[in-house]
Amino acid sequence: MNVLVVNAGSSSLKYQLIDTVTGEVKAKGLCDRIGIPGSRIDHKTADGTKWSKEIEMSNHSVATKILVEVLTDPEIGCIKDMSEIEAIGHRVVHGGPYFSESILVTDEVIEVLKKCTDFAPLHTGPHLMGIAGCTSVMPTTPQVLVFDTAFHQTMPECAYTYPISAEIAEKYQIRRYGAHGTSHRYVSGVMNEILNKEDSKVVTCHLGNGSSISAVKGGKVIDTSMGFTPLDGLVMGTRCGSIDPAIVTYVMDREGMTPDEMNNYMNKKSGFLGLTHGFSSDCRDLEAAIAAGPEDPHYADANRAINVWAYQIKKFIGSYAAAMNGLDAVVFTAGIGENNSRLRALVCENMEFYGIKIDNEANASGAGSALAKKISADDSKVAVYLIPTNEELMIAQDTARIASAL
Ligand code: ADP
Repeated sequence: MNVLVVNAGSSSLKYQLIDTVTGEVKAKGLCDRIGIPGSRIDHKTADGTKWSKEIEMSNHSVATKILVEVLTDPEIGCIKDMSEIEAIGHRVVHGGPYFSESILVTDEVIEVLKKCTDFAPLHTGPHLMGIAGCTSVMPTTPQVLVFDTAFHQTMPECAYTYPISAEIAEKYQIRRYGAHGTSHRYVSGVMNEILNKEDSKVVTCHLGNGSSISAVKGGKVIDTSMGFTPLDGLVMGTRCGSIDPAIVTYVMDREGMTPDEMNNYMNKKSGFLGLTHGFSSDCRDLEAAIAAGPEDPHYADANRAINVWAYQIKKFIGSYAAAMNGLDAVVFTAGIGENNSRLRALVCENMEFYGIKIDNEANASGAGSALAKKISADDSKVAVYLIPTNEELMIAQDTARIASAL
Protein backbone atom coordinates (compact mmCIF):
# COMPACT_ATOMS: atom_id res chain seq x y z
CA MET A 1 0.00 0.00 0.00
CA ASN A 2 1.21 3.53 -0.80
CA VAL A 3 0.96 5.62 2.36
CA LEU A 4 1.64 9.33 2.55
CA VAL A 5 3.24 10.02 5.92
CA VAL A 6 2.68 13.59 7.06
CA ASN A 7 4.38 15.49 9.86
CA ALA A 8 2.68 18.88 10.09
CA GLY A 9 4.24 21.74 12.04
CA SER A 10 2.95 25.29 12.38
CA SER A 11 4.65 26.54 9.21
CA SER A 12 5.98 23.32 7.73
CA LEU A 13 4.79 19.99 6.43
CA LYS A 14 7.20 17.09 6.05
CA TYR A 15 6.07 14.19 3.90
CA GLN A 16 7.17 10.76 2.73
CA LEU A 17 5.44 8.45 0.30
CA ILE A 18 6.14 4.90 1.47
CA ASP A 19 5.32 1.57 -0.13
CA THR A 20 4.48 -0.46 2.96
CA VAL A 21 5.00 -3.80 1.20
CA THR A 22 8.62 -3.15 0.27
CA GLY A 23 9.33 -0.37 2.80
CA GLU A 24 10.62 1.76 -0.09
CA VAL A 25 10.50 5.53 0.33
CA LYS A 26 9.23 6.58 -3.11
CA ALA A 27 9.66 10.28 -2.41
CA LYS A 28 10.05 12.66 0.48
CA GLY A 29 10.11 16.35 1.05
CA LEU A 30 9.28 19.44 2.99
CA CYS A 31 6.83 22.29 2.44
CA ASP A 32 8.39 25.13 4.39
CA ARG A 33 7.37 28.64 5.45
CA ILE A 34 3.68 27.87 5.02
CA GLY A 35 1.75 31.10 5.56
CA ILE A 36 5.02 33.09 5.61
CA PRO A 37 6.52 35.01 2.67
CA GLY A 38 9.13 32.93 0.81
CA SER A 39 7.38 29.56 1.11
CA ARG A 40 8.98 26.71 -0.80
CA ILE A 41 8.86 23.00 -1.41
CA ASP A 42 11.97 20.79 -1.30
CA HIS A 43 11.40 17.40 -2.86
CA LYS A 44 13.62 14.32 -3.15
CA THR A 45 12.92 11.35 -5.38
CA ALA A 46 13.75 7.72 -4.55
CA ASP A 47 17.04 7.92 -6.45
CA GLY A 48 18.10 10.95 -4.39
CA THR A 49 17.45 13.63 -7.01
CA LYS A 50 16.61 16.93 -5.32
CA TRP A 51 14.12 19.45 -6.64
CA SER A 52 12.98 22.75 -5.08
CA LYS A 53 10.59 25.51 -5.94
CA GLU A 54 9.55 28.75 -4.27
CA ILE A 55 5.80 28.85 -4.45
CA GLU A 56 3.18 30.62 -2.36
CA MET A 57 1.58 28.35 0.24
CA SER A 58 -0.87 30.39 2.29
CA ASN A 59 -2.01 27.45 4.43
CA HIS A 60 -1.68 23.68 4.90
CA SER A 61 -4.42 22.94 2.32
CA VAL A 62 -2.47 24.77 -0.36
CA ALA A 63 0.74 23.00 0.74
CA THR A 64 -0.99 19.60 0.48
CA LYS A 65 -2.34 20.45 -2.98
CA ILE A 66 1.15 21.42 -4.12
CA LEU A 67 2.88 18.34 -2.71
CA VAL A 68 0.30 16.13 -4.42
CA GLU A 69 0.96 17.98 -7.69
CA VAL A 70 4.68 17.30 -7.23
CA LEU A 71 4.11 13.60 -6.40
CA THR A 72 2.00 13.21 -9.57
CA ASP A 73 4.21 15.36 -11.81
CA PRO A 74 5.20 13.44 -14.97
CA GLU A 75 8.85 14.53 -14.64
CA ILE A 76 9.69 14.49 -10.94
CA GLY A 77 6.72 12.60 -9.50
CA CYS A 78 6.50 8.91 -8.63
CA ILE A 79 2.78 8.21 -9.06
CA LYS A 80 0.43 8.84 -11.97
CA ASP A 81 -2.59 9.90 -10.05
CA MET A 82 -3.64 11.06 -6.58
CA SER A 83 -5.71 7.88 -6.21
CA GLU A 84 -2.42 5.96 -5.87
CA ILE A 85 -2.07 7.53 -2.41
CA GLU A 86 -4.11 4.87 -0.66
CA ALA A 87 -3.94 6.23 2.88
CA ILE A 88 -2.43 9.07 4.89
CA GLY A 89 -0.67 8.66 8.24
CA HIS A 90 -0.13 11.66 10.49
CA ARG A 91 2.54 11.91 13.14
CA VAL A 92 0.89 13.39 16.24
CA VAL A 93 3.09 14.57 19.08
CA HIS A 94 0.65 14.18 21.97
CA GLY A 95 -2.41 12.01 22.45
CA GLY A 96 -2.89 13.01 26.10
CA PRO A 97 -4.66 10.39 28.20
CA TYR A 98 -7.09 9.77 25.32
CA PHE A 99 -5.17 7.74 22.76
CA SER A 100 -3.27 4.54 23.51
CA GLU A 101 -2.97 3.39 19.91
CA SER A 102 -3.11 4.63 16.34
CA ILE A 103 -6.61 5.48 15.17
CA LEU A 104 -8.62 6.27 12.04
CA VAL A 105 -9.54 9.94 11.65
CA THR A 106 -13.26 10.58 12.17
CA ASP A 107 -15.15 13.68 13.27
CA GLU A 108 -15.27 12.34 16.84
CA VAL A 109 -11.52 11.63 16.85
CA ILE A 110 -10.85 15.20 15.68
CA GLU A 111 -12.91 16.53 18.60
CA VAL A 112 -10.89 14.46 21.08
CA LEU A 113 -7.62 15.50 19.41
CA LYS A 114 -8.57 19.14 19.96
CA LYS A 115 -8.52 18.42 23.71
CA CYS A 116 -4.82 17.49 23.39
CA THR A 117 -4.00 21.14 22.66
CA ASP A 118 -3.59 21.60 26.43
CA PHE A 119 -0.72 19.09 26.45
CA ALA A 120 1.05 20.16 23.26
CA PRO A 121 -0.06 23.70 22.44
CA LEU A 122 2.61 24.27 19.80
CA HIS A 123 1.96 21.02 17.94
CA THR A 124 -1.72 20.08 18.13
CA GLY A 125 -3.04 23.10 16.19
CA PRO A 126 -0.62 22.48 13.30
CA HIS A 127 -1.54 18.76 13.30
CA LEU A 128 -5.22 19.72 12.97
CA MET A 129 -4.30 22.04 10.08
CA GLY A 130 -2.37 19.21 8.40
CA ILE A 131 -5.35 16.85 8.71
CA ALA A 132 -7.72 19.54 7.38
CA GLY A 133 -5.33 20.19 4.49
CA CYS A 134 -5.30 16.50 3.52
CA THR A 135 -9.10 16.27 3.89
CA SER A 136 -9.60 19.22 1.56
CA VAL A 137 -7.38 17.74 -1.17
CA MET A 138 -8.08 14.00 -0.70
CA PRO A 139 -11.52 13.87 0.95
CA THR A 140 -12.10 10.14 0.47
CA THR A 141 -8.60 8.90 1.38
CA PRO A 142 -8.48 7.30 4.85
CA GLN A 143 -6.33 9.15 7.37
CA VAL A 144 -4.78 7.66 10.49
CA LEU A 145 -3.25 9.34 13.53
CA VAL A 146 -0.10 7.83 15.04
CA PHE A 147 0.80 9.29 18.44
CA ASP A 148 4.26 9.81 19.93
CA THR A 149 2.77 9.16 23.37
CA ALA A 150 0.66 6.07 22.60
CA PHE A 151 3.32 3.39 23.14
CA HIS A 152 3.91 4.70 26.67
CA GLN A 153 0.29 4.32 27.74
CA THR A 154 1.04 0.84 29.13
CA MET A 155 3.12 2.25 32.01
CA PRO A 156 1.91 1.15 35.41
CA GLU A 157 0.46 3.77 37.74
CA CYS A 158 3.57 3.78 39.94
CA ALA A 159 5.68 4.83 36.94
CA TYR A 160 3.41 7.51 35.50
CA THR A 161 2.33 9.17 38.75
CA TYR A 162 4.05 12.33 40.00
CA PRO A 163 3.97 12.82 43.75
CA ILE A 164 2.05 16.10 43.74
CA SER A 165 -1.42 16.53 45.23
CA ALA A 166 -3.95 14.18 43.70
CA GLU A 167 -6.44 17.06 43.25
CA ILE A 168 -4.08 19.11 41.06
CA ALA A 169 -2.87 16.04 39.17
CA GLU A 170 -6.46 15.03 38.40
CA LYS A 171 -7.61 18.55 37.58
CA TYR A 172 -4.89 19.09 34.96
CA GLN A 173 -4.28 15.44 34.05
CA ILE A 174 -0.67 15.75 35.12
CA ARG A 175 1.17 12.45 34.75
CA ARG A 176 4.09 10.99 32.84
CA TYR A 177 3.10 10.66 29.17
CA GLY A 178 6.52 10.19 27.57
CA ALA A 179 7.52 10.97 23.98
CA HIS A 180 9.37 9.44 21.00
CA GLY A 181 7.00 6.47 21.47
CA THR A 182 6.93 5.59 17.79
CA SER A 183 10.71 5.34 17.76
CA HIS A 184 10.85 3.29 20.98
CA ARG A 185 8.16 0.98 19.56
CA TYR A 186 10.03 0.53 16.29
CA VAL A 187 13.47 -0.23 17.74
CA SER A 188 12.17 -2.38 20.60
CA GLY A 189 10.10 -4.32 18.03
CA VAL A 190 13.21 -4.99 15.92
CA MET A 191 15.15 -5.94 19.07
CA ASN A 192 12.42 -8.32 20.21
CA GLU A 193 12.42 -10.09 16.86
CA ILE A 194 16.15 -10.68 17.32
CA LEU A 195 15.81 -11.79 20.96
CA ASN A 196 12.81 -13.96 20.19
CA LYS A 197 12.13 -14.28 23.89
CA GLU A 198 8.95 -14.04 25.89
CA ASP A 199 8.91 -11.30 28.51
CA SER A 200 12.10 -9.73 27.10
CA LYS A 201 13.66 -6.87 29.07
CA VAL A 202 14.93 -4.12 26.79
CA VAL A 203 16.15 -0.58 27.43
CA THR A 204 15.82 1.63 24.35
CA CYS A 205 17.97 4.79 24.22
CA HIS A 206 16.72 7.35 21.68
CA LEU A 207 19.58 9.83 21.76
CA GLY A 208 19.20 12.76 19.38
CA ASN A 209 18.71 16.44 19.81
CA GLY A 210 15.79 15.44 22.00
CA SER A 211 16.56 12.28 23.97
CA SER A 212 14.57 9.71 25.90
CA ILE A 213 15.07 6.25 27.36
CA SER A 214 12.42 3.58 27.83
CA ALA A 215 12.14 0.32 29.72
CA VAL A 216 10.26 -2.14 27.51
CA LYS A 217 9.23 -5.40 29.15
CA GLY A 218 7.57 -8.07 27.05
CA GLY A 219 7.06 -5.49 24.29
CA LYS A 220 5.31 -3.01 26.60
CA VAL A 221 6.68 0.20 28.07
CA ILE A 222 6.86 0.10 31.84
CA ASP A 223 8.76 3.37 32.26
CA THR A 224 10.19 6.18 30.19
CA SER A 225 12.34 9.21 30.89
CA MET A 226 10.28 11.96 29.31
CA GLY A 227 7.39 13.00 31.44
CA PHE A 228 4.39 15.32 31.44
CA THR A 229 6.32 17.15 28.73
CA PRO A 230 9.42 16.32 26.66
CA LEU A 231 11.46 18.49 29.04
CA ASP A 232 11.79 15.72 31.62
CA GLY A 233 14.52 13.08 31.84
CA LEU A 234 17.90 13.30 30.17
CA VAL A 235 20.01 16.37 29.50
CA MET A 236 19.47 17.21 25.79
CA GLY A 237 20.70 19.66 23.16
CA THR A 238 19.01 22.71 24.68
CA ARG A 239 16.72 21.12 27.32
CA CYS A 240 17.81 20.66 30.92
CA GLY A 241 15.93 17.41 31.57
CA SER A 242 15.21 16.51 35.20
CA ILE A 243 16.51 19.00 37.72
CA ASP A 244 15.69 19.75 41.34
CA PRO A 245 12.29 21.48 40.95
CA ALA A 246 13.30 24.02 43.58
CA ILE A 247 15.91 25.40 41.15
CA VAL A 248 13.05 26.69 39.01
CA THR A 249 11.56 29.05 41.59
CA TYR A 250 15.01 29.91 42.98
CA VAL A 251 16.33 31.11 39.61
CA MET A 252 13.05 32.82 38.67
CA ASP A 253 13.16 34.72 41.91
CA ARG A 254 16.84 35.76 41.68
CA GLU A 255 16.76 36.55 37.94
CA GLY A 256 13.28 38.13 37.92
CA MET A 257 12.05 35.70 35.28
CA THR A 258 8.40 35.23 34.28
CA PRO A 259 7.04 31.65 33.89
CA ASP A 260 7.35 32.00 30.10
CA GLU A 261 10.95 33.13 30.38
CA MET A 262 11.80 30.26 32.70
CA ASN A 263 10.11 27.81 30.36
CA ASN A 264 12.14 29.19 27.49
CA TYR A 265 15.33 29.02 29.57
CA MET A 266 14.82 25.35 30.45
CA ASN A 267 13.77 24.33 26.93
CA LYS A 268 16.03 26.46 24.75
CA LYS A 269 19.02 27.66 26.75
CA SER A 270 19.97 24.73 28.94
CA GLY A 271 21.26 21.24 28.16
CA PHE A 272 24.47 21.03 26.11
CA LEU A 273 24.06 24.65 25.04
CA GLY A 274 23.81 25.90 28.62
CA LEU A 275 26.52 23.60 29.96
CA THR A 276 28.99 24.88 27.35
CA HIS A 277 28.42 28.58 28.08
CA GLY A 278 26.37 28.91 24.88
CA PHE A 279 28.97 27.20 22.63
CA SER A 280 26.73 24.60 21.00
CA SER A 281 23.70 22.36 21.41
CA ASP A 282 25.02 20.00 18.76
CA CYS A 283 26.81 16.98 20.08
CA ARG A 284 29.08 16.92 17.01
CA ASP A 285 30.53 20.31 17.99
CA LEU A 286 31.14 19.05 21.51
CA GLU A 287 32.85 15.96 20.18
CA ALA A 288 35.03 18.08 17.89
CA ALA A 289 36.08 20.28 20.83
CA ILE A 290 36.97 17.19 22.86
CA ALA A 291 38.89 15.68 19.95
CA ALA A 292 40.82 18.96 19.55
CA GLY A 293 42.19 18.50 23.06
CA PRO A 294 42.73 20.67 26.14
CA GLU A 295 43.96 23.59 24.05
CA ASP A 296 40.50 24.03 22.59
CA PRO A 297 38.60 26.81 24.44
CA HIS A 298 35.50 24.61 24.68
CA TYR A 299 37.28 21.41 25.67
CA ALA A 300 36.52 21.54 29.40
CA ASP A 301 32.89 22.56 28.95
CA ALA A 302 32.29 19.96 26.26
CA ASN A 303 33.85 17.22 28.37
CA ARG A 304 31.78 18.16 31.37
CA ALA A 305 28.57 18.22 29.31
CA ILE A 306 29.25 14.79 27.80
CA ASN A 307 30.20 13.34 31.19
CA VAL A 308 26.94 14.59 32.73
CA TRP A 309 25.03 13.12 29.78
CA ALA A 310 26.74 9.71 29.83
CA TYR A 311 26.39 9.43 33.61
CA GLN A 312 22.66 10.13 33.40
CA ILE A 313 22.17 7.48 30.72
CA LYS A 314 24.01 4.92 32.85
CA LYS A 315 21.73 5.73 35.78
CA PHE A 316 18.63 5.28 33.62
CA ILE A 317 19.85 1.94 32.28
CA GLY A 318 20.62 0.77 35.82
CA SER A 319 17.32 1.93 37.27
CA TYR A 320 15.33 0.40 34.42
CA ALA A 321 17.18 -2.91 34.86
CA ALA A 322 16.06 -2.75 38.50
CA ALA A 323 12.48 -1.87 37.47
CA MET A 324 12.36 -4.84 35.07
CA ASN A 325 14.21 -7.21 37.39
CA GLY A 326 16.76 -7.89 34.68
CA LEU A 327 18.08 -6.79 31.33
CA ASP A 328 18.35 -8.65 28.02
CA ALA A 329 19.30 -5.85 25.69
CA VAL A 330 20.21 -2.18 25.39
CA VAL A 331 19.41 -0.44 22.11
CA PHE A 332 20.97 2.79 20.84
CA THR A 333 19.18 4.85 18.23
CA ALA A 334 18.66 8.39 16.77
CA GLY A 335 21.28 10.98 15.76
CA ILE A 336 23.80 10.48 18.57
CA GLY A 337 22.93 6.87 19.34
CA GLU A 338 23.33 5.78 15.70
CA ASN A 339 26.37 7.81 14.75
CA ASN A 340 28.79 8.13 17.62
CA SER A 341 30.68 5.02 18.70
CA ARG A 342 32.78 6.85 21.31
CA LEU A 343 29.68 7.98 23.14
CA ARG A 344 28.06 4.54 22.99
CA ALA A 345 31.24 3.09 24.47
CA LEU A 346 31.36 5.80 27.15
CA VAL A 347 27.82 4.98 28.26
CA CYS A 348 28.58 1.25 28.37
CA GLU A 349 31.97 1.37 30.11
CA ASN A 350 32.16 0.07 33.68
CA MET A 351 28.83 -1.66 33.38
CA GLU A 352 30.15 -5.22 33.67
CA PHE A 353 28.16 -5.46 36.89
CA TYR A 354 25.05 -5.42 34.71
CA GLY A 355 26.58 -7.85 32.26
CA ILE A 356 27.23 -5.21 29.62
CA LYS A 357 30.42 -5.62 27.60
CA ILE A 358 31.03 -3.81 24.32
CA ASP A 359 32.92 -5.25 21.34
CA ASN A 360 35.05 -2.22 20.47
CA GLU A 361 35.59 -3.24 16.87
CA ALA A 362 31.92 -3.92 16.17
CA ASN A 363 31.00 -0.68 17.92
CA ALA A 364 33.50 1.38 15.93
CA SER A 365 32.26 0.05 12.61
CA GLY A 366 28.59 0.51 13.48
CA ALA A 367 27.98 4.02 12.15
CA GLY A 368 25.81 4.37 9.10
CA SER A 369 24.60 0.82 9.32
CA ALA A 370 21.11 0.63 7.86
CA LEU A 371 20.12 -2.45 9.80
CA ALA A 372 20.32 -3.65 13.37
CA LYS A 373 23.93 -4.18 14.38
CA LYS A 374 25.18 -6.04 17.44
CA ILE A 375 27.91 -4.08 19.20
CA SER A 376 28.26 -6.16 22.37
CA ALA A 377 30.94 -8.80 22.88
CA ASP A 378 29.96 -12.43 22.43
CA ASP A 379 30.41 -13.05 26.17
CA SER A 380 28.32 -10.01 27.14
CA LYS A 381 25.33 -11.16 29.20
CA VAL A 382 23.31 -8.24 27.84
CA ALA A 383 23.04 -7.77 24.08
CA VAL A 384 23.83 -4.22 22.98
CA TYR A 385 22.53 -3.15 19.58
CA LEU A 386 22.55 -0.15 17.35
CA ILE A 387 19.21 -0.02 15.54
CA PRO A 388 18.51 2.91 13.18
CA THR A 389 15.07 4.22 13.99
CA ASN A 390 12.38 4.56 11.35
CA GLU A 391 9.37 6.39 12.72
CA GLU A 392 7.97 7.06 9.26
CA LEU A 393 7.90 3.37 8.36
CA MET A 394 6.15 2.61 11.66
CA ILE A 395 3.55 5.33 10.92
CA ALA A 396 3.08 3.97 7.39
CA GLN A 397 2.66 0.39 8.64
CA ASP A 398 0.09 1.37 11.29
CA THR A 399 -1.77 3.40 8.69
CA ALA A 400 -1.77 0.53 6.17
CA ARG A 401 -3.00 -1.92 8.82
CA ILE A 402 -5.89 0.31 9.87
CA ALA A 403 -6.79 1.46 6.35
CA SER A 404 -6.73 -2.05 4.87
CA ALA A 405 -9.19 -3.25 7.52
CA LEU A 406 -11.83 -0.74 6.33
P1 ADP B 1 16.08 15.10 16.60
O1 ADP B 1 15.97 14.88 18.04
O2 ADP B 1 16.07 16.54 16.22
O3 ADP B 1 15.20 14.21 15.75
P2 ADP B 1 18.27 13.48 15.56
O4 ADP B 1 17.86 12.17 16.10
O5 ADP B 1 18.27 13.67 14.10
O6 ADP B 1 17.55 14.69 16.27
O7 ADP B 1 19.72 13.78 16.12
C1 ADP B 1 20.34 14.98 15.80
C2 ADP B 1 21.51 15.14 16.69
O8 ADP B 1 22.37 13.99 16.53
C3 ADP B 1 22.38 16.32 16.31
O9 ADP B 1 21.99 17.46 17.00
C4 ADP B 1 23.74 15.87 16.72
O10 ADP B 1 24.01 16.39 18.00
C5 ADP B 1 23.67 14.38 16.85
N1 ADP B 1 24.63 13.69 15.98
C6 ADP B 1 24.53 13.34 14.69
N2 ADP B 1 25.65 12.73 14.25
C7 ADP B 1 26.49 12.69 15.31
C8 ADP B 1 27.81 12.20 15.54
N3 ADP B 1 28.51 11.62 14.59
N4 ADP B 1 28.34 12.37 16.78
C9 ADP B 1 27.65 12.94 17.76
N5 ADP B 1 26.42 13.42 17.61
C10 ADP B 1 25.84 13.31 16.42
